[in-house]
Amino acid sequence: MNATELQEKLFYKKQSVYEKAGEAIVAEAYAFAEPYKEYLDAAKTEREAVTVSIEMARAAGFIPYKLGDALVAGGKYYYNNRDKSLYLFVIGTRPIEEGVRIAAAHIDSPRIDLKQCPLYEEAGMAFFKTHYYGGIRKYQWVATPLALHGVIVKKDGTSVTVAIGEDEKDPVFYINDLLPHLGHEMGKKPLDEAIPGEKLNVLIGNRPYIGADKDAVKLNAMSLLYEKYGITEDDFLSAELSVVPAAKARDIGFDRALIAAYGHDDRVCAYPALMSVLGLEAPENTVMCVLADKEETSSVGNTGMQSYIFPDLLTEIAKALGGNPAVVRAASRCLSADVSCAYDPNFPEVFEKRNTALLSCGVVLMKYTGARGKSATNDASAEYLGWLRSMMEKNGIVWQSGELGRVDCGGGSTVAKFIGNLNIDTVDLGVPVISMHAPCEAIAKVDLYEAYRAFVAFLHA
Ligand code: MN
Ligand code: MN
Repeated sequence: MNATELQEKLFYKKQSVYEKAGEAIVAEAYAFAEPYKEYLDAAKTEREAVTVSIEMARAAGFIPYKLGDALVAGGKYYYNNRDKSLYLFVIGTRPIEEGVRIAAAHIDSPRIDLKQCPLYEEAGMAFFKTHYYGGIRKYQWVATPLALHGVIVKKDGTSVTVAIGEDEKDPVFYINDLLPHLGHEMGKKPLDEAIPGEKLNVLIGNRPYIGADKDAVKLNAMSLLYEKYGITEDDFLSAELSVVPAAKARDIGFDRALIAAYGHDDRVCAYPALMSVLGLEAPENTVMCVLADKEETSSVGNTGMQSYIFPDLLTEIAKALGGNPAVVRAASRCLSADVSCAYDPNFPEVFEKRNTALLSCGVVLMKYTGARGKSATNDASAEYLGWLRSMMEKNGIVWQSGELGRVDCGGGSTVAKFIGNLNIDTVDLGVPVISMHAPCEAIAKVDLYEAYRAFVAFLHA
């Protein structure tokens, strides 16, 4: 055997989906990306993602489930948790004590929330005060068109849903930035300090209500809100309103290989996980797709991944099918479906190239996340990785391993550890992202599709 043949035989070689999977798969990937972009545009908040996902689930024959309901093999169910997180499951033909196959993604994304007393006027401009949600780089959110999404629950208990800035004819909102002519001192500041949180005030109006002796612009804005939604200023006290980028998902590049959009993290995993479960007919395994809220703020609260609703649902499923919940959990397997960072040649100093995912080289399997010495990581076992690896190879799925940057550089985590804590084999599998958490992130279409193919194969394995 000559050296080239020996290298071929012995060395690991990362290849792109284009090289490895062939043209037919690439064509399918580009087609799969079209409805994904529509999903992104329709689901910019977790509430909207739940609404849209339920519509899709109902169309696929899923029915609402209440805790304690009876379940039958082949049955397709969804549990809507407070309109903010969603659990879809299909009952398989195998005994429930053989475990549940779980794909768990999150549907919240970093953004800017309104404070509870948001409205004020200064120098003839009306603004909303805000409090950002998740890990944003604040300087990225100024001087760009923004949309307002959310819900207002009024004093009388009725609620109104708000979505302004998405239609071409809608107005948008805006956060002021400093002109370069006067930005010399500010320009010397570190990026993280140049735009402090209390400067993220959203501009909402400039026209006065004629005749008012003070707060005339605020009054005019409030009168328009009263006209449209029937709300008074105190109704903001019981509202959840968020500001998100107003832009729609678009292709990037002459070759259209990538998608630029808000909220790829983590809808780029939520969408293929959802689609993989919606496409199932009478599976052998019982499967579940989790679309969790609050991942970007540590997965706490009753709609986050740490909520008891998740083990409660597994327990109820086990009981309804005559299984021991502890046995069901021990036999279950989970893909924590979340994004990883893609290697970015503009910032080589923070990545370790041999162990970072490359765009278009397939879905990323991350054995561990965490920070520094693997702090707070779910470190998946070699045995589970080995099982998954052979499952993916058998199904021709293009995949790669990855981790979040250089060892001492920073880090991050996902919902994996919370599911692992329940005695469920769990590992992170997702799509590599460029500019993660930016108002406009980038992903590769072929990676999105390999994620979908990986979820389908996993649910059947
Ligand atoms: Mn994420
Ligand atoms: Mn994130």
